[in-house]
Amino acid sequence: MPNPQLEQFSHELLTKAGVTILLCAIAALLLRELLRRVERKATQPGRSERAAPEAEPTSVSIPAYSAAASALPNCPACDARMVKRRARSGVNAGAEFWGCSGYPGCRGTLPV
Ligand SMILES: [Zn+2]
Repeated sequence: MPNPQLEQFSHELLTKAGVTILLCAIAALLLRELLRRVERKATQPGRSERAAPEAEPTSVSIPAYSAAASALPNCPACDARMVKRRARSGVNAGAEFWGCSGYPGCRGTLPV
């Protein structure tokens, strides 16, 4: 035997739940659209900044190379440019070290 009161209650519950779910879905869609717009605004200036170095990749690598070249140490004894050498004998045979470019006039060395 059907209960009209229960049927009406459940119908109202479903209707209200349906409306709530629908409102939630609309709110979620609006929120997603809002977030998308905020993200787009946030990424647009970033994109143009990132696009500039990408246009000239060589201009990025050249300063990096010259920075590495300027990182070469100077001789602690005579301040001349050091060159990377490999020890041929002795305790450190096979190990790399910085040797003075003025060798053999200057025997200044630095550990790598
Ligand atoms: Zn030297």
